[in-house]
Amino acid sequence: MPNSHDLQYDLHSHSIVSDGSLSPEDLVSRAAAQGVNVLALTDHDVTEGLSAARQAATEHGIHLVSGVEISVTWNGATVHILGLGIDEDNDELQKGLGELREFRAWRAREIARRLEKKGILDSYDGAIQYAKGALVSRTHFAHYLVETGRAKNVRDVFKKYLVKGKPGYVPGQWARLDDAVQWINAAGGQAVVAHPARYRLSATNLRKLLSEFKACGGVGLEVVSSAHSESDCITMGRYASQFELLASCGSDFHGPEQPWVELGRIPSLPEHCEPIWSGWN
Ligand code: AMP
Ligand code: MN
Ligand code: MN
Ligand code: MN
Repeated sequence: MPNSHDLQYDLHSHSIVSDGSLSPEDLVSRAAAQGVNVLALTDHDVTEGLSAARQAATEHGIHLVSGVEISVTWNGATVHILGLGIDEDNDELQKGLGELREFRAWRAREIARRLEKKGILDSYDGAIQYAKGALVSRTHFAHYLVETGRAKNVRDVFKKYLVKGKPGYVPGQWARLDDAVQWINAAGGQAVVAHPARYRLSATNLRKLLSEFKACGGVGLEVVSSAHSESDCITMGRYASQFELLASCGSDFHGPEQPWVELGRIPSLPEHCEPIWSGWN
């Protein structure tokens, strides 16, 4: 893997294998066209897209970092942990991801059951139509609810139906933080806290999260993300330095239907940050 400031890194993206809308091949091709040199495919709780993405990357002359974004419940909140540079054939990792997908399958039935009580029928079949890959996400329900006129866009569906306190929200336990980090480390990867500003944690809780994350073997913080404002990036850059975490950057691209997010179109890391790729070769 090249290690240079001249390269364009995008270390967070999704394909149709989880809740993105492009195939792994089309994602890689789009990344190459956007000038990305190093792309991580980080589908939620699944690694099935990596081999096709890797092959496409070779064809396009760019570098593919094998990644995953693991759903974690920490302190009652859902937190996402990226694994970068993983060996996707690792059994411990795959066993953990498999359990998360089982929970997803159960949760999808439960979301549909709860929506049915609100008079929305067939949302399970509807969501499944959009779930072309290996798992069902709230995003797939959102697409179906938009299609059937329950809200005008995906963001509104979440607000109205799918977030905590709304009819289709299903509480549950994702992976434990220490387990997720352990699976990533067992697979030879680097664990990175994804889009830390999105959780709206208090400073005290964010510090608690980062200390625990480090203590269980996590090494990185996603300082730059499309989910972050400019000031979030500055704040998170400071946290990375304070906690001696390596800094990562990613668009969290899900598809061209969200034109405000584009592969590779992200600001540079703050100068003082040590990039996650500084040890890559
Ligand atoms: P899940 O992992 O199935 O619970 O779904 C989480 C996914 O839904 C995230 O990865 C986002 O892609 C998407 N998502 C979460 N919150 C929102 C929101 N408020 N608006 C639009 N998409 C969202
Ligand atoms: Mn997503
Ligand atoms: Mn995420
Ligand atoms: Mn993501």
